[in-house]
Amino acid sequence: TFITIEGGDGTGKTTLIQALALQAREQGHEVMITREPGGIPIAEAIRAIILGTENTAMDARTEALLYAAARRQHLAEKVMPALRKGAIVICDRFVDSSLAYQGYARGLGIEAVWEINRFAIEDCMPDLTLYLDLDPEVGLARIEQNGDREVNRLDLEGLAFHRKVREGYKLLESQFADRFVTIDAAMTPAQIADNAWQHLKPKLAS
Ligand code: C5P
Ligand code: MG
Repeated sequence: TFITIEGGDGTGKTTLIQALALQAREQGHEVMITREPGGIPIAEAIRAIILGTENTAMDARTEALLYAAARRQHLAEKVMPALRKGAIVICDRFVDSSLAYQGYARGLGIEAVWEINRFAIEDCMPDLTLYLDLDPEVGLARIEQNGDREVNRLDLEGLAFHRKVREGYKLLESQFADRFVTIDAAMTPAQIADNAWQHLKPKLAS
């Protein structure tokens, strides 16, 4: 079972993943947690190129291609083998991040970004995507408060960019209604985890 967690910055993706993994493991499931971009050395190296604060000249299409390349390697090397072994894979970000950030917010077009990602992904799509929806102003304030996160190139983007990302995710909700579930990320971490678990549970039975 392939689960992806999506959302803007500071929406609590990492926190939710920890809670879901704990609960699934308590019920005897084998769970692998991973993240994008990254999760394995080749993809982490690509992540460093994309997010490096010195790389401000990066072209939007280059960025989209690098994300897709990192995604491919991560899938081939880590996600697909785990799924073949029957594990539950919970991934922090996946293709929907590219569609919302590069496709919609950067203006490359959701369809164009989907095309290059279809090549990268083949047919390995998530069974369930949990999208944490939050006002970006609240999300960015959370990040500032925590102060536990490395500054990256995207932090140089203004609120307007992050608002567009949120709009992009809203479009995906209708486009991928069969797998895409929106969760209100303004709730407490415990409420979010409960809500998410209700959607996850039926997927694990099979
Ligand atoms: O989720 P995480 O903090 O690991 O993401 C790192 C940064 O990359 C974030 O600032 C996020 O907004 C950005 N990002 C992006 N496009 C993607 C995925 C992540 O701009 N497709
Ligand atoms: Mg995170």
